[in-house]
Amino acid sequence: MGIFAKIAAGEIPSYKCAENDEFYAFLDINPLVKGHTLVIPRREVDYIFDMEDDELARFEVFAKKVAVAIKAAFPCVKVGQAVLGLEVPHAHIHLIPMQSEKDMNFANPKLSLSAEEMQEIASKIYQEFSK
Ligand code: 5GP
Repeated sequence: MGIFAKIAAGEIPSYKCAENDEFYAFLDINPLVKGHTLVIPRREVDYIFDMEDDELARFEVFAKKVAVAIKAAFPCVKVGQAVLGLEVPHAHIHLIPMQSEKDMNFANPKLSLSAEEMQEIASKIYQEFSK
């Protein structure tokens, strides 16, 4: 099992932001900004555009709910969405609260946050998602 599948299964710890039977959302360990979240299918699939239409639609609807929760927890202009998948071969959507387009630059230095800060951020998003 790959690292993200293990995270979704709870075998590797993560800062959980949201979940349902099919999908899981957690904080990126090297965030571009506070609230940078990854959304994944629990099942292992590498390339997002290999997903069947129905599954991809449900994935995007789940990501939308997570984005609404992120925006409520971390007021921003918009939540940006990006798909790269160059590092981890398990489909994932990056959700990034943006104040400007610069926040979506993956070449930016990453934030270094304490475990307490990461937990606090994830809890805020989880609370909003659960409303
Ligand atoms: P990508 O595959 O989209 O190019 O990059 C993978 C992303 O996953 C990166 O932003 C990286 O910080 C994040 N990442 C890689 N390994 C882990 C991990 O073990 N835990 C978490 N929470 N994020 C990870």
